[in-house]
Amino acid sequence: MTDSRTRDPLPEAVGIKGLDAAGIESLMAEYGEPRYRARQVVRWLYGRAARSYDEMTDVPAGLRARLAGRLPLPFPRIIERQVSRDGTRKYLLGLGDGTSVECVGLPHDGRLTVCFSTQAGCAMGCSFCATGKSGLTRNLGAGEMVDQVRVVAEDLGGRPTNAVAMGQGEPFANYDATLAALRFMNSPDGLEIGARHLTVSTCGLVSGIERLSREPEQFTLAVSLHSAVQTTRDRLMPGVRGIPLERLRSSLAAYISSTGRRPSLEYALIAGINDTDVELDALLGFCQGLLVHVNLIPANPVTGGFEAPPAPSRVQRFAEKLLDHGVPTTIRAERGADIDAACGQLRQRATGARAD
Ligand code: SAH
Ligand code: SF4
Repeated sequence: MTDSRTRDPLPEAVGIKGLDAAGIESLMAEYGEPRYRARQVVRWLYGRAARSYDEMTDVPAGLRARLAGRLPLPFPRIIERQVSRDGTRKYLLGLGDGTSVECVGLPHDGRLTVCFSTQAGCAMGCSFCATGKSGLTRNLGAGEMVDQVRVVAEDLGGRPTNAVAMGQGEPFANYDATLAALRFMNSPDGLEIGARHLTVSTCGLVSGIERLSREPEQFTLAVSLHSAVQTTRDRLMPGVRGIPLERLRSSLAAYISSTGRRPSLEYALIAGINDTDVELDALLGFCQGLLVHVNLIPANPVTGGFEAPPAPSRVQRFAEKLLDHGVPTTIRAERGADIDAACGQLRQRATGARAD
């Protein structure tokens, strides 16, 4: 459904930030450079966040000039920053071509988790999501994802220990660039974040789940479920209407058996929509026999939306019943509640996009 968009070429201004490691290697090969040159360039781009080719002092000046003449080297700028009382910081970043994206920094217990976007906007149209309301602008290049983590870490003055593709966009609708970004983040030449501390969150594109299960790295998978009742899920998440819940469940079962890893299921509780006992029973049924962890998130109200979080007692009831049935469950603490914390809200407000 998003295929024609995902094949759109990136704007020229994305430049070298649109390449994966293999792309940088073939570029160096094209210039007749030795093999180690590609690693040097990657180290400058993602290990040291060079702002220009001139900084790459161990790269020959002639090559630097040729690269500068051919591929822009953009770096995001902070357009807006909101600081929450709990330390969470939310950013609106401007990219090389003027597109803006959001990312969030969450310092906690001496660690720093960065939530980054994989697309500007999103084509999936989830009813409760501010990003979904504004549609897709474009895919992001791998380097544009890594740079979000870098900008946040520099602003907060710490090393990023975790990164989650839970900002704007559907990572599996931009699979190759997302994987390339996770690899730069994981690499000793890049951000050196352990693979298990790199999480990709999907609305449930099974082709992506299948591909991820075959990747050699132990990246962590999160699936946004939000309802185990087909009609409710279809209404909340129109972009994945064509993927029945049984198909999603069987692809998760296959993922678990081939990787031995435990994915998490994200469940944003919305009052009167997916917080009923019928919904709870369906969720229990979905989880039975599946090695998953459930994250319950009281929905974040979005401007112009109908969604509201349920009473805390409903959230507790979901958690208790899941735990009683042996399903590991956490209630995700709300962070940054006093800023525009919900996905897409900052961009929505800054661009004046309507949420209707
Ligand atoms: N497109 C991917 C990743 C980005 S969305 C996905 O859907 O998984 C990141 C998470 O924020 C998802 O679990 C999404 O469902 C959740 N989310 C979006 N809007 C929300 C809201 N208003 N309240 C609570 N969670 C929300
Ligand atoms: Fe896209 Fe995820 Fe928002 Fe749905 S919740 S519209 S998939 S970003």
